[in-house]
Amino acid sequence: MSGPKEACGVVGIAMGEASAAGSHDAARNAFYGLFALQHRGQEAAGIASSDGTTISLHKDVGLVSQVFREGTLEPLKGRLSIGHTRYSTTGHSSLRNAQPFVIDTRHGPLAVAHNGNIANAPALRKALLDRGIGLSSASDTELLAMDLAGAEGRDWPERIAKAMAGWVGAFSLLVLTRDAIYALRDPWGFRPLSRAVLADGSHAFASETSALRMLGAKDFEEVAPGQIVEARGKGFETFHGMGGGAKSSCAFEYVYFSRPDSEWNGRSVHAARRALGAILAEEAPAEADIVVPVPDSAIPPAIGYAAVSGIPYEEGLVKNRYIGRTFIEPTEALRRRGVALKFSPLVENIANKRIVLVDDSIVRGTTTRALVELLRGAGAREIHLRVASPPIRHPCHMGVDMGDPSELVARRLDAEGLAKELGVESLAWLSLGGLGKAIGVSGLCEACFSGRYPIPIDEVGAKTLFERSGP
Ligand code: SF4
Repeated sequence: MSGPKEACGVVGIAMGEASAAGSHDAARNAFYGLFALQHRGQEAAGIASSDGTTISLHKDVGLVSQVFREGTLEPLKGRLSIGHTRYSTTGHSSLRNAQPFVIDTRHGPLAVAHNGNIANAPALRKALLDRGIGLSSASDTELLAMDLAGAEGRDWPERIAKAMAGWVGAFSLLVLTRDAIYALRDPWGFRPLSRAVLADGSHAFASETSALRMLGAKDFEEVAPGQIVEARGKGFETFHGMGGGAKSSCAFEYVYFSRPDSEWNGRSVHAARRALGAILAEEAPAEADIVVPVPDSAIPPAIGYAAVSGIPYEEGLVKNRYIGRTFIEPTEALRRRGVALKFSPLVENIANKRIVLVDDSIVRGTTTRALVELLRGAGAREIHLRVASPPIRHPCHMGVDMGDPSELVARRLDAEGLAKELGVESLAWLSLGGLGKAIGVSGLCEACFSGRYPIPIDEVGAKTLFERSGP
């Protein structure tokens, strides 16, 4: 599957107070953490570090490994670091929109790294401009940084709570000040954000538990929806930030975005994906010789489908893992070439076989069409497409870019029509009930499938207005 793009990954490291302020070990750990979150954004990356007096920053467009070298990490000194890997959901993909954002405030320097999307950004933007505050980018994260800078309160937890009370939408946010890191989540809890203590005693935050585990953490705890967590290097302190949201964890994190070795809401992403496939097999059986996944995110559901159906699991497509999720696909012809560069068929497994092809989701259908052609070219006798999520018919306003809503193929075609258009013998999606049952977590957002949004979205249509007028 290709299409939706994640809204970013964040990581934060607060080393113990005994650590040398002149070292760049916190920045180095943030760099490793960003590696583990590369799948959440491949357009730009950045790290900001505080040495207790100033905040230093390095960010650029490109993959984490392209943006950072020893020479670029070395100047990022201090015990406290936050990092960000970006895919844009608001603002164009330029260096000006890369994160973290660093600004000076009357309370000292501030850096902000954001995963999510602010639904009331147009109103926030207008309010800031009306107060005479200038803005330099099209990103909603700059709005949050400026709003924080102007907030009243005795200390940062108070100022953060005051500012976030005016934000509507998805925000898993890290805020770096001179002497602390603050992690906060919107009260709906749309995007994941966890905290942990690392083996060296550092306190760490990351969008996904897989990044914390990679850094050596064993026990994770989520930053609760609406909560503010402060890390100064000698422990976590929690504050109430904002209430009022009905819990709405993004179902798509389980279907596609999060790494399978992450856990969220106490539920393993890999186990949830297997269950998606298992329930799909119950809901939509097929007569076939093998079950073939579209690698990588559809591998667990294909395993689940095979286990329940009794049809052998088999690899049928080999993926070139050196091509990222955001491979540039500007035209139909290039998209097709992109698929051929990304996938090649395992002819000996496919030829003359009846295949259940399991994909995690279908957005535009372009990739699926090209994959079907590849499998037919390799001699597949029948292709029964099974999709481990319901039809996507609605845009996301909470941090996932589904592209132009008019391009969502399930808006114009039902299963039969799409099967015909794709040239497959049969096609079935997972039901909405099956999705909820497989994920097994209470309080899910399923708005891109159901159209039922957990937040008011009347202002969201204006989002693209300032994207177009942005840099
Ligand atoms: S609309 Fe879809 S992608 Fe967006 S937060 Fe809800 S479930 Fe996730």
